[in-house]
Amino acid sequence: MDPVATVQPSWAARFTIGLRASLRRSLDVALPRLCPSCRDLVTDNGLCPACWSKVAFIAAPYCPRLGIPFAYDPGPGILSIQAIADPPAFGRARAAVRYDDVARALVHAFKYGDRLDLAPLLGGWMARAGEELLDGADALVPVPLHWRRLWTRRFNQSAALAAAISRDSGVAVAHGALRRVKATQQQVGLSRSERASNVQGAFRVAANAQVAGRRLVLIDDVLTSGATADACARVLLRAGASQVDVLVLARVVDAAKAPI
Ligand SMILES: [Zn+2]
Repeated sequence: MDPVATVQPSWAARFTIGLRASLRRSLDVALPRLCPSCRDLVTDNGLCPACWSKVAFIAAPYCPRLGIPFAYDPGPGILSIQAIADPPAFGRARAAVRYDDVARALVHAFKYGDRLDLAPLLGGWMARAGEELLDGADALVPVPLHWRRLWTRRFNQSAALAAAISRDSGVAVAHGALRRVKATQQQVGLSRSERASNVQGAFRVAANAQVAGRRLVLIDDVLTSGATADACARVLLRAGASQVDVLVLARVVDAAKAPI
């Protein structure tokens, strides 16, 4: 018997594989997409027109350090009171949108609802919001999940966003540069100080990561108190990174106060 023939899929197997692939293709075309926010039908991979109009994009003026929008323009270089009172370990933070109902639905669909197809849309928003940070950056560093959470969720939403931003900006992704060595509890529902102690010692720079002397941009989905971003930035800076900025999809916004 020809030994090659035994490793070739049979005619029937090849037919079944082909049939399955074409069925999947036709289903992609036939199945209408649902808006990840309101579940209305949409014609493309994005949001329905009503939800599009509700997306709260963050635009200038904002605090140059924290990226929190100002209610009025205090003038160039003026920091928010939050940035002065409690300066973060990272350099600058930028977010594409405010974390509101639409953003929450988007993040939820993307993270838990298997809507990975939203990555190019959301990554595009982030690349625009983070233009200043991405300009001259050496690498994107996705905030890692603990392996156990990665196991149950099957993918890291921050890494998926980083890949999309990389395609738009040309900045490479340093996959695996950071490791989450402590399985932290979810930050949801914790106070500011609880959040900080929850992520203390949770991150470590991988031994083979090229971090020293490099300008890095941390990528995450949501910025709340900034405790996670701060913990990541601290270990990256300790490992010799020359600069660590933070780019997120959505951030929780309390009204920023300019120091006037
Ligand atoms: Zn909608």
